[in-house]
Amino acid sequence: MASLLPADIYRHQNGLKHINVSNSDGFSALFVVNTPIFDNSGVAHAVEHMVFRGSTAFPQPETLFQLTSLTDAKINASTFANTTYFHCQSQCAHTFMLAVNYLLNGLFNPIFNAEDLPCEIHDGNDKGVIYQELIASEQAEQKSTEESSNNKNDKNNFCYGGISASIGDLSLSDLTGFHQRFYQASNITLVTANADIEQISYLMTLLPKQSKQIQGHTQDNAQKRTQKNKNNEHHQKKYPAAINKLIAHYHLWLHTPYYQKIEDYKEIKQTEKFLVCNTDSLAILPHSNLIPSLVTLSNKLVKDTINEQAIDAGISAMAIKGMGIKKPANKTLLPNLFNKLCRQAKKQLTINELSQNKANCHPNHVGVSDQRNALWLTNIGATEQVLATMTSYIISAYPKFLAPRCQGLCYATQALTIEKSAYLAIYNAFDVNPDTRLKEVTLCLLTLSQDKHFISMSLALAKIKYCQIEQVNNNQAMSITPTDISTYLQTLANSHHPKV
Ligand SMILES: [Zn+2]
Repeated sequence: MASLLPADIYRHQNGLKHINVSNSDGFSALFVVNTPIFDNSGVAHAVEHMVFRGSTAFPQPETLFQLTSLTDAKINASTFANTTYFHCQSQCAHTFMLAVNYLLNGLFNPIFNAEDLPCEIHDGNDKGVIYQELIASEQAEQKSTEESSNNKNDKNNFCYGGISASIGDLSLSDLTGFHQRFYQASNITLVTANADIEQISYLMTLLPKQSKQIQGHTQDNAQKRTQKNKNNEHHQKKYPAAINKLIAHYHLWLHTPYYQKIEDYKEIKQTEKFLVCNTDSLAILPHSNLIPSLVTLSNKLVKDTINEQAIDAGISAMAIKGMGIKKPANKTLLPNLFNKLCRQAKKQLTINELSQNKANCHPNHVGVSDQRNALWLTNIGATEQVLATMTSYIISAYPKFLAPRCQGLCYATQALTIEKSAYLAIYNAFDVNPDTRLKEVTLCLLTLSQDKHFISMSLALAKIKYCQIEQVNNNQAMSITPTDISTYLQTLANSHHPKV
């Protein structure tokens, strides 16, 4: 049951309302943007995607995926009829602040440029992340409508995500206009758990100045619309428990007249605390392909780990303690969408193993696909589980690996270990050409195996993430070298299919 004290509610200098609660869920944040939708253009959905694609401080589209693959941070968003939610979670205070900073910059200073629209939205042919997403959801909807006999078509409901046939019509000025109108601090509410509000306040002072709000819209109108429409609550099932609690706190605040009447929420005093986002430590090597903040974070976490190590030999156990870890972060699972392909791939791997005894070949990996999805799967040896899991984090952060997603050729892509690290899986969901993607896997793994610089930069974070997620004192994890990763990548790429 959500409860809220007036003392938990603050107002930042830029007008952003901030509710901060204490609980035992680790660190989490939910930005609620009032984004009422009046048509099927999908403009709110497109702006949501552009917030993640790049900001002045985090200009690269790979950043989101590097943050989520090399740290325990979970970052996501969804667009509903009246609101857009952006949220993040971490068990580590430093990582959490980096994720909040990433979201703040995206929300208030996203980059809208013409070259990004064909990749993130639709190029008019078959490219575009949102286009892939809409086609998939339209196909799923069609299927469920065919299956259920009661076809209720509510004409008053707009397709708030947009429609695949018209999403490509959105122009740069549609996006900037919508952003300027609704992404104002006074139109956004932040709900956090266990956050350092002064640090967040300080992060906001670092943001470039926003242009003034366009007339004709007030926060009150948007809030009234939100109050009338409780659609959002239907969607809570898909969120992690910690984010659901923040949503409940937000609705409690929104629907309680008492809170709405309070005019003077607590002002936050400005401090200039040490922040992990400052580029304060080691020099950053050029062309690392990692954002400077991740390199800084890595240096900081490694330093913490070493300091703790001096006191106690239990390296990662102490590192976890030092980072304020309360409970294990959720492990990443293969999306349900891949259940059928995964069964098919495992079967194929078993067949290959059996035939290996007869012929002299090394059928260690298989690639399977359907019309829109590709799955590459390989067995992991009993002694390789730690190595394989860390390698999967590094693959998922590699720009060449992320290129199909950033170019709008698929909706999602990731490398991960599944089923208690029995398999390493690489998937591309809603892909323009799944078979091409499967063919590219080997070359991508080989290219990464030669990129020693990227491997060593990302390995430090991968080790810390591994220890956080597995909650183990794992000396094997800490002793893995860049050469181990490189060699393992070559092994993965070089195993051959049996001759047909
Ligand atoms: Zn989307």
